[in-house]
Amino acid sequence: MNRQSPKKAAEQAQRRELIEALQRAGLWECQIGQVFARIPTDLMQHEWRHKFAAAAAACMGEPTGIHERRKRSAVGSLTTLANLMPACTPCNQWVEAEPEAAHAVGLVVRPGDHEWFLCGKGRNE
Ligand SMILES: [Zn+2]
Repeated sequence: MNRQSPKKAAEQAQRRELIEALQRAGLWECQIGQVFARIPTDLMQHEWRHKFAAAAAACMGEPTGIHERRKRSAVGSLTTLANLMPACTPCNQWVEAEPEAAHAVGLVVRPGDHEWFLCGKGRNE
């Protein structure tokens, strides 16, 4: 029995296609690690700098999944490239463990952020 709705199945198929397209384009690398490698100077003055440095050092490079900047529980898009970042396991875990620092560098998108709508499923969500 298939418990998945046709809409969900279509979304997942679209997501698989997205992953394959990223792989073909040579973009299948940990994008969170790339953010850690380019932390703005003002944040590097912040007490978080040690956290960013540790995270950058822990990045494996090879993605094991896709990080959703706006979570799907917050109606984040599973298909919009702006919402999705190929990510390795250590980087993904860091984002979960450090939500404030992750938000400060755009790895987490929240209501009120300028990318909130861009990362959502629908224009009005
Ligand atoms: Zn990484």
